[in-house]
Amino acid sequence: MSITAMDQEYVAGTYKRFPVEIVSGKGSRVVDANGKSYVDMGSGIGVTAFGFADDAWMAAVTAQLGKVQHTSNLYYTEPCAVLAKLLCEKTGMKKVFFSNSGAEANECAIKVARKYSAGKKGADCYTIVTLVNSFHGRTLTTLAATGQDHFHELFQPLTPGFVHVPANDIDALKKCVAENKVAGILMEVVQGEGGVLPLTEDFLVAANEIAHENDIPFMIDEVQTGNGRSGKLYSYMNYPIQPDIVSTAKGLGGGLPIGATMLGEKVQNVLGFGDHGSTYGGNPVCCAGAVSVVERLTEGFLKGVKERSEYIFSSLQGAPGVESVTGLGLMIGVKTVAPAAEVVKLCMDRGVLCLTAKDKVRLLPALNIPMEDLTYAVETLNAAAKELGGKV
Ligand SMILES: *Cc1c(COP(=O)(O)O)cnc(C)c1O
Repeated sequence: MSITAMDQEYVAGTYKRFPVEIVSGKGSRVVDANGKSYVDMGSGIGVTAFGFADDAWMAAVTAQLGKVQHTSNLYYTEPCAVLAKLLCEKTGMKKVFFSNSGAEANECAIKVARKYSAGKKGADCYTIVTLVNSFHGRTLTTLAATGQDHFHELFQPLTPGFVHVPANDIDALKKCVAENKVAGILMEVVQGEGGVLPLTEDFLVAANEIAHENDIPFMIDEVQTGNGRSGKLYSYMNYPIQPDIVSTAKGLGGGLPIGATMLGEKVQNVLGFGDHGSTYGGNPVCCAGAVSVVERLTEGFLKGVKERSEYIFSSLQGAPGVESVTGLGLMIGVKTVAPAAEVVKLCMDRGVLCLTAKDKVRLLPALNIPMEDLTYAVETLNAAAKELGGKV
């Protein structure tokens, strides 16, 4: 029985996989079961921040594996404390709660916002405002936060107390905050799953001000945009705003499951003993991997992210068969004239793995993708977009 057939028979059918079985990877290249090599422009949906089998990351992870792989949160371990300190020092946030995924990082953010606001304004102050077309995860609460109806339909009732306002509509946000007892405002700086759509600076600045004026925790979901992906350590740092809570995951662990919810001054002591927890949260192996990732996200390194980003934007913007290029840093959406799925398939045939988001080709390469691999990938994508859609 082939691996593909076995997977299709025994793994729950929630994923529409590409017809590729990946067996190994190094840097930004992966090899499939037939020995075919690809340049990877997806990094496991923005997770393998330093590519596959990165030497420094592997050394950090395997060293910790050989010491202790798990302790539970009943005991202290070094990687967890070191990672929390590193994140606080680099962001100015005060405390970190660790979990295992982006959805859980957002769950924690929402719990903190609700506890803070209920304590300050009363138990009926529980509404969380998020944006239309957002994506915040797959648990029933983060689905409720997700502003896309098609994710909600089959799973009613979701956690109550969520309202969605259109992205970049300052008046709608003001009206919403005036009409509801708002416990928190949560948004992505770039809507990733929603089609790689950056929010406008005006809207971000206004949302930041509305939240702070009304003593409402301002939460930024940096699950996808965080950890160097935007060209800054966290994407909010591209703008003059200051969130109270930052959730992140994906690229943080470099390929091991970890979520983090960073708590700023206002909310740093909201969670007390027993208020929240996670058996695996702060796992020493995952934290050791994350330390290796975060400590390398220096200004000098991020300059390289920006250079790669500029190369992609300038190569694709206005190219034949390309309608638009959106995004920030190495989180890029390419609207092609031809359907994105067809462009992605042709690229795959030619040895380049890309993603899609809504009607776009989505690029989330490793932050350190070698220029040689990146050039090949961008030229392949350019050619595919032209061949399939250049005539229009
Ligand atoms: C991927 C993603 C999530 C969910 O993360 P999981 O690790 O899949 O739970 C939440 N928010 C955003 C913005 C994401 O991109």
